[in-house]
Amino acid sequence: MTQPDAVVVGSGPNGLAAALTLARAGLRVEVFEGADEPGGGCRTAELTLPGFANDVCSTVHGLAAASPFFAGYDLAARGVRLLVPKVAAAQPLDGGRAAAICGSVAETASGLGADAGAYRRLMEPLERDADAVLSLALSPLRSLPGRPVSAARFATEGVLPATVLARRLKTAEGRALLAGMAAHSIKSLTAPLTSAFGLTMLLVAHTTGWPVIAGGSGRLVAAMTAELTELGGSVATGCWVKCLADLPPARAVMLDVTPRQLLEMAGDRLPPGYRHAVRRYRYGPGVCKVDWALDGPVPWQNEACRQTVTVHAGGTIEEVARSEAAVAAGQHPEQPFCLVTQPGVVDQSRAPAGKQVLWAYCHVPPGSDVDMADRIEAQIERFAPGFRDLVLARSVLTAADMERYNPGYVGGDIAAGAGTLRQTIGRPTLRWNPYRVPLPGTYLCSGSTPPGGGVHGMCGMWAARTALRDMRL
Ligand SMILES: Cc1cc2nc3c(=O)[nH]c(=O)nc-3n(C[C@H](O)[C@H](O)[C@H](O)COP(=O)(O)OP(=O)(O)OC[C@H]3O[C@@H](n4cnc5c(N)ncnc54)[C@H](O)[C@@H]3O)c2cc1C
Repeated sequence: MTQPDAVVVGSGPNGLAAALTLARAGLRVEVFEGADEPGGGCRTAELTLPGFANDVCSTVHGLAAASPFFAGYDLAARGVRLLVPKVAAAQPLDGGRAAAICGSVAETASGLGADAGAYRRLMEPLERDADAVLSLALSPLRSLPGRPVSAARFATEGVLPATVLARRLKTAEGRALLAGMAAHSIKSLTAPLTSAFGLTMLLVAHTTGWPVIAGGSGRLVAAMTAELTELGGSVATGCWVKCLADLPPARAVMLDVTPRQLLEMAGDRLPPGYRHAVRRYRYGPGVCKVDWALDGPVPWQNEACRQTVTVHAGGTIEEVARSEAAVAAGQHPEQPFCLVTQPGVVDQSRAPAGKQVLWAYCHVPPGSDVDMADRIEAQIERFAPGFRDLVLARSVLTAADMERYNPGYVGGDIAAGAGTLRQTIGRPTLRWNPYRVPLPGTYLCSGSTPPGGGVHGMCGMWAARTALRDMRL
């Protein structure tokens, strides 16, 4: 074997995006993955019953669809088909009502009754400059905005707590919709910046429709590893890297790991100032996830919920806020806000004829080993009576299990670090180029760098571009 030009530790979407960016520039890249399968948060497996393809982590690929990294990638030619549901996302309320994102801002607003005007005023300026706003949201913070006016508007509204921004909306539906999107921040909705998460999620939903990948998220990783192999690279699985010194010598070392693993791997080799800064890095709450094999589609009372992959089952803004505040205070909510995905709405290949796969998670305190399955099922049953009768099998991963599954999910934090104000400005630390680790040729490329969590590959792409610049390539 010839010596690699670059090594990558971790084969999550960001590790593979970094590997591909370097390999396309002509470097020979070797990826070392600890688990037995590549893919990190983008794997598909039979978690419940034979013949049921459950996504172990990510399912909804709005961020991949909006990502400049994947835009430069002919996904269709590589056998990756994005399937877009009729309704991007829905949030049921008691009494069979629901808020739903369907198509454009104008179409969605028309379903929001008295909030139609307020929703248009909130979202249409962002929708008009969607490309510029999303490209900014998916870039390191130091990037200059393409459309400064839209960027300024996004920043001033985004910094608000979601509970404050929601005052512009009057209906239970409109307010619940914003709350469900903002809850993707995994923070109390009274915290600053939760609106930025809500607005970004809404914009991505309007722009991409929140698709899934036909056959399961693992297909995306299969396409990425296939291209890497064609370019002369390789992925070695079952190789946990404990120490940077264990890696073969290379011009660039890309680390798809979070600061905690970086400290373990690099230890005293890191300059004390950087080590100190990285130690201050904070992780957020965890998730408890349940996967099901079902005997049929979930019998949601509201029709929009039957036409979407993504259902936010948590009730009104007050209920969602209560659930997220409880988690922030270290408690397990009795009625948790649940993110539910039902890919079978658009992808019948995931389960035997007539059957369905389903997953849902709720936020829990860091490191929790509490099984929330009964509470999550109760929330789904509340909006879809008869759901429990359809359960053929279920599999539960507590937050503690999540970390055992992937050490990058510290305490079950699936976003590779808390979305605090400090860690939005400097992620993982305050540096002009956050990807460079102050060791020769070493870079962080995980969701602990900008733009953060999600399957978009942008952390990997930006980190690899830094490495290429440093190598004068
Ligand atoms: C339940 C759940 C649902 C989610 N849903 C969505 C969704 O619908 N849409 C979305 O966009 N995002 C979703 N996400 C988030 C998304 O999966 C992550 O943000 C994304 O995978 C991060 O990519 P990454 O490459 O930075 O890290 P990861 O995907 O975590 O990959 C890191 C890889 O590095 C490996 N590794 C770590 N340490 C070492 C080591 N020392 N040696 C060797 N290998 C190592 C790990 O095994 C892992 O394979 C979800 C996550 C979870 C857990």
